[in-house]
Amino acid sequence: MNTSSRVSTDIDAASSILTHGGIVAIPTETVYGLAAIALNETAVGRVFSTKGRPTSHPLIVHLSPNDDYGRWGVLNEAATSIAAAIWPGPITLLVPRTRLVPDWVTGGRDTVALRVPAHDMTLSLLKQLGDAVVAPSANRFGQVSPTRAEHVLADLGEDVDLILDGGPCEIGIESTIIECTSNNLQILRPGKITAVHIAEITGLQLAHTDGPSRAPGMMIAHYAPKARVELCASLAEASEKNSHYKNGGISSCIVHHEDPAEYALSVYDDLRAADTQGAEVVLAVMPPDHGIGKAIRDRLTKAAAG
Ligand code: AMP
Ligand code: MG
Repeated sequence: MNTSSRVSTDIDAASSILTHGGIVAIPTETVYGLAAIALNETAVGRVFSTKGRPTSHPLIVHLSPNDDYGRWGVLNEAATSIAAAIWPGPITLLVPRTRLVPDWVTGGRDTVALRVPAHDMTLSLLKQLGDAVVAPSANRFGQVSPTRAEHVLADLGEDVDLILDGGPCEIGIESTIIECTSNNLQILRPGKITAVHIAEITGLQLAHTDGPSRAPGMMIAHYAPKARVELCASLAEASEKNSHYKNGGISSCIVHHEDPAEYALSVYDDLRAADTQGAEVVLAVMPPDHGIGKAIRDRLTKAAAG
């Protein structure tokens, strides 16, 4: 098989590869994931080794809406309401695990992260499989997440058995992760769905987050391109720095979008483009700290720490 023939829209082929213990990149509305059957230890091991991800960083289990979620985790009232309101959709629920869930998925923790992704192709695949998959982002550990099949091909190429091409992702950044192990709900990773949405759905106020300690793998440096990322408070600041670098013979570029949804959609693409163009410095303009802007700020801050 040559490299480009790995990119396909063939759901049957993807299903067959997964069933036989292979790994397949799958489209979701957030970013592309690297899937393996969750209950297959060897296949999940290949996901960790292909990404170069430490096995102590637990994986999100992706379910079909036809699944009985209770087989995997114990959903309390709040978690049940959130799932009913948003799945399939960009929210991951961290809940107590059941005995079905293996240690190789949770890193030995007694909680499991669950999500039903909203992408027609992947939903068809999950229904056909009748089995849940793990699906961390389909990139090498610590690098920029992929939002198109071409990104996965560029990052993982020969190391993945198939890349299911579902077009560009609709949201462009990872799901919100919310801890629902008690009524003290906490957002561990910001995303499109915000604390305001969750409060509306559950009627519960969210506790202040201390994400990094409760969700392993949310280390400081993450989502990083090769170029050095500098955070700028405004477009004016970025423009001034850009001229300064250009005058000094340093190749730099600005990453910014006025509209936050548009920004989320293109931020990873823009970081990749900076590397393709050989930029040494990326001047990333921070969006306002609300709505999906919070999530973009989180990813840019981690990219800058890389
Ligand atoms: P991703 O890197 O998008 O696959 O997101 C996975 C992240 O979800 C991990 O790095 C953890 O921060 C969090 N997570 C997944 N499963 C668990 C778990 N069982 N307990 C705590 N955090 C988890
Ligand atoms: Mg990732």
